[in-house]
Amino acid sequence: MKYIDGFRNSETAVAISRQIKEIASKIDRQMTIMEVCGTHTMSIAKFAIRSLLPENIRLVSGPGCPVCVTPQGYIDAAIELAECGKVIVTFGDMINVPGTSSSLSRSRSSGTHVETCYSPADAVEMANKYLDRQVVFLAVGFETTIGPVVSIVDSALREKIENLSIFTTFKQIPPAMEALSSDSELNIDAFLCPAHVSAIIGEKAYEPFSAKYRKPCVIAGFEPLDILSGIKMIAAQISNGEAKVENNYSRVVKYDGNPKAREFINTYLEPADAQWRGIGNIPGSGLSLRKKFEKFDSEKKFGMKVDYKINSSKCRCGDVLKGKISPTECPLFAKVCTPSNPSGPCMVSSEGTCSACYKYSR
Ligand code: SF4
Repeated sequence: MKYIDGFRNSETAVAISRQIKEIASKIDRQMTIMEVCGTHTMSIAKFAIRSLLPENIRLVSGPGCPVCVTPQGYIDAAIELAECGKVIVTFGDMINVPGTSSSLSRSRSSGTHVETCYSPADAVEMANKYLDRQVVFLAVGFETTIGPVVSIVDSALREKIENLSIFTTFKQIPPAMEALSSDSELNIDAFLCPAHVSAIIGEKAYEPFSAKYRKPCVIAGFEPLDILSGIKMIAAQISNGEAKVENNYSRVVKYDGNPKAREFINTYLEPADAQWRGIGNIPGSGLSLRKKFEKFDSEKKFGMKVDYKINSSKCRCGDVLKGKISPTECPLFAKVCTPSNPSGPCMVSSEGTCSACYKYSR
């Protein structure tokens, strides 16, 4: 508890807020800082961080919620697998994400077998339990969760499990940040970089695009004082005309991240293009199973044809995830789209920007 208090001390928060305002008062323009990670988005809303910032600092949310960036066509394909008799295993939030005309939750209500789990290891248990069925794990996630998910393949190999596969839509954060940096319409000045993802990829992963596009990047933890002091570091960089990568979460994140975790991931996966919901294709931003492991790749195993480009919804998650609009600018927000009746993934996910806004900022 003492540890948490240390990062939530209100007097320190007010003092850092004053320092940010002082730095920002010398910058004669609007600054847009993107917090890339969904957990940051939730903390910023929950602790009313925006209320502690000067008017010329605008925080916008980024695409760092894996559920939110999962394409509609992927959900449709997962529902189709369930309807063809496969056992679908997935994390909780995914079952409520709308596809084109249904969701996994609705599919389950109509009799398909969809299991929610807390750990990817549960998929291995399911495969051993339902030996006469094909079990498919919905492999959604960023660098932080990719390792544990890929360990399913490792277990299946060791235990000679034949009825288990993973339906991958893995995504990597730095290529997405680079794509957003290169979009001049978005006017993102700097990035508050994710905490847990950075523990795997390390500080150095941000250096190439930070230097190329001259974007200050600061890695921050999820506590309010981590975030505030990270914003202060960004403001100071902008004020000094700098664009470098700084680590404000060195109690967890190392310069080189976690090479062992990356080596494990590289054993099974190789870079691939990936479709991001509402954003589109980002070259090299995905990871897919290497050819020698393709018998565990659901798309190959079942000859699936996934339409990743489909977008039949009026949901504006894509614009929200690029920082182009705030959730309240979406015409559906809180009228048609609510947490109990979500029109898009950003309202479903516990890390979604619309969900955070609905819960804390209305
Ligand atoms: S409020 Fe709902 S419909 Fe609008 S962008 Fe957010 S999730 Fe999509």
